[in-house]
Amino acid sequence: MTIEQSALANLKNAGLSEITCLPGQQSYEDRVSSYWSLTAQLRPWTIVQPRTTQEVSETLKALVSISGCKFAIRSGGHMAWAGANNIEAGVTIDLGLMTTTTYNPDTKIASLQSGGTWAQVYSELEKYGVMVAGGREGLVGIGGLLLGGGISFHSCRYGFACDQVINYEVVLADGSIVQANKTTNPDLFSVLKGGSNNFGIVTRFDMVAFEATDIWDGNIVLSKTATEEIIEAFVDFEQKLNEAPDDHILAMWTYLPQTKDHFINMVLTNLDGVEDAKSLQKFLAIPGQKNMKTTTMAKKLVDFVVPSGKQDTWLTLTFDLDARIMKKAADVFEVLVEDLKILIPDGKFYISMVLQPLPRSFAKQSRARGGNLLGIEKLQKDCVLLVAAVEVETPEISTKIAYPKLRAAISEIELYAKSVDGDVGFLYLNYCDGSQDPFQTYGEASIRKMREAMAKYDPSGTFQTRVPGGFKISQMGVRN
Ligand SMILES: Cc1cc2nc3c(=O)[nH]c(=O)nc-3n(C[C@H](O)[C@H](O)[C@H](O)COP(=O)(O)OP(=O)(O)OC[C@H]3O[C@@H](n4cnc5c(N)ncnc54)[C@H](O)[C@@H]3O)c2cc1C
Repeated sequence: MTIEQSALANLKNAGLSEITCLPGQQSYEDRVSSYWSLTAQLRPWTIVQPRTTQEVSETLKALVSISGCKFAIRSGGHMAWAGANNIEAGVTIDLGLMTTTTYNPDTKIASLQSGGTWAQVYSELEKYGVMVAGGREGLVGIGGLLLGGGISFHSCRYGFACDQVINYEVVLADGSIVQANKTTNPDLFSVLKGGSNNFGIVTRFDMVAFEATDIWDGNIVLSKTATEEIIEAFVDFEQKLNEAPDDHILAMWTYLPQTKDHFINMVLTNLDGVEDAKSLQKFLAIPGQKNMKTTTMAKKLVDFVVPSGKQDTWLTLTFDLDARIMKKAADVFEVLVEDLKILIPDGKFYISMVLQPLPRSFAKQSRARGGNLLGIEKLQKDCVLLVAAVEVETPEISTKIAYPKLRAAISEIELYAKSVDGDVGFLYLNYCDGSQDPFQTYGEASIRKMREAMAKYDPSGTFQTRVPGGFKISQMGVRN
């Protein structure tokens, strides 16, 4: 028997046929096409969709017992690079049926199954008048975001989203189901805060909830001629954010095929629903098309869904909060857009470069909650997190044009940041392409913790060798 035949036979013998779908079946095709990026839409031998933690455990045991059988783990399917959350020659364990969110008013803890979306979570929690710090786009998954850190609207108040997780339910490589928190398996607890899929399959995240409030939220569409004013306002805003953690911003340099030129989309949110908040005044004063309103997180996320179904490349970089580097990034973006207009037939591409604050206070908030693996406290400065994404129509354009051009642009910004002593050497895992190496930037202490936890909780290296997708501790230094 081939490995594929053995895998299917084992799943059947384990009584899992009902949750297993095969190529050609509608359920299989629907799940493949539900990955956010076309780039990630690989075709595994079969997709298994457990409904319970017990079924995750049985699936894992059935697959691990076949020598050489590889598999992938998927929650929301939003990581854009091929193989992060899916596999060609193997089985995909898809948590997309495990979407329940519950709230316990006595403990003020929300329990989130891994396969849900943030839009679902927020809608459910607002019924109880509470909220958690999670994703900022409606359809992003719970599992991937929380295991990679998680930047939320509330990061200025609570650090990374993973800092608000107080307990994980995890299925380990041998199929055992364990809890990981401050007192039970604390070493596993600490490495799940940024360690991605290297230790087990997390089925449930228990998170601290807080009171839900109205937010004052929306965007301003600005001309690229406002670049310097926006950068000045951004620097001022981020410095003040350390002391007054009341707002959230994203500065998105954007080019769409239907626009002749790129523009800047400033997304602004006051977390307490204060209209015309003083802290956002510098942005609001720049002439542009304003669309601001009072709403709630749940309502915002229903509308806030980034279109999918393209070939995507994402790359990330972090540097000092320094107007010169931000201006350089804007200049490099402008040249990149002009190059791509020439190189890509019919100008059919979408590109954005998002700058977001990563102030010192995020690390302080994380530390106050026990800390995470990301190692940002070593930065000791206010920083800017850049993520750039290009979307194109075909894999050829993606690999031959979009990827090398974006890569070169990011390298140019990085080189400039180094030249002004502003490169901080941190890569945020959830924004990384598969060619980037986020774990190496976490620092020695985090790397040591991950290696120790791996040896203890997955001594046979199942999540290194049998789950090849995603960022692997054992592959650190091999990427690039
Ligand atoms: C449109 C869009 C908006 C985004 N917005 C944000 C944002 O606001 N903040 C932010 O921080 N990031 C954001 N991201 C990045 C996002 O956090 C990552 O893409 C994240 O991986 C998505 O989570 P997911 O559940 O969809 O992951 P998937 O793509 O399903 O998985 C990502 C990785 O995590 C692993 N994994 C997933 N679930 C589990 C599990 N239960 N147990 C073990 N391993 C698991 C997978 O194997 C894979 O390697 C955004 C991405 C997109 C495309």
